[in-house]
Amino acid sequence: MSFRAIRILFLLTLLAAVAGMTYWESMVVRNWLRPLEVTIYPVNGDDTAEVGEYIAALKQDHFQEIGRFIAGQSERYRGKDLPPVSIRLAREIRTPPPFPPQDRHSGFSAILWSLKLRHYAFDHTPFWDSLGTVRLFVVYHQGEDGKPLQHSLGLHKGLVGVVHAFAQAKQNAQNNVVITHELFHALGASDKYDAANQPLYPEGFGDPDGPRYPQHVAEIMAGRIAVAPEVARIPAGLEACVVGYKTAWEINW
Ligand SMILES: [Zn+2]
Repeated sequence: MSFRAIRILFLLTLLAAVAGMTYWESMVVRNWLRPLEVTIYPVNGDDTAEVGEYIAALKQDHFQEIGRFIAGQSERYRGKDLPPVSIRLAREIRTPPPFPPQDRHSGFSAILWSLKLRHYAFDHTPFWDSLGTVRLFVVYHQGEDGKPLQHSLGLHKGLVGVVHAFAQAKQNAQNNVVITHELFHALGASDKYDAANQPLYPEGFGDPDGPRYPQHVAEIMAGRIAVAPEVARIPAGLEACVVGYKTAWEINW
């Protein structure tokens, strides 16, 4: 075999190994064959001292309600047999994750971004300790009141996601809603809102069996409470969210 052929064979083997490992990881995690381990990596999205101070003051405790929410919601679908969920807060990462493509519907730029994100994850997180765990990069911004942040994005085929959150203590509860939403993407769930951010009926409604409007809870993958046909509001925290039947089915509950 020529050197060129050997090199191509080597690269193909490497690609196959990475693809196989990604598939195996996702399958084990998404089928709840072992405890779910989630690691949160905070990132200073503004590169400012204020956001830095907020990150320095973050405690692992702030995120534990995510685990309790998942355990509590799963009971309605599968009793008490869900393996334990653990949420760990890792040290701050100094480099921001790659910017998602402007055109989210172009297949090529989406693939390129997913490769860049995998490479970023590989560079900034421990390799062996991360196997079989979900890694969420939470990018904190000071933000302006009433102005939405950049959209959070997860990889459909990998256990990696990028979440944009507010660096304000009063936003911690809502940040946990966004983090949980993105975590559910990593577990295989799809969005349940339309182009106008209105929850889709019935799968995006917290209580699709009751009166249609107003709803009082949000389906986690719709992310908003449907108050009226064209009005939806952001839930204050996970206590105002539920996992609907379709999301439950998508994540193998
Ligand atoms: Zn989403």
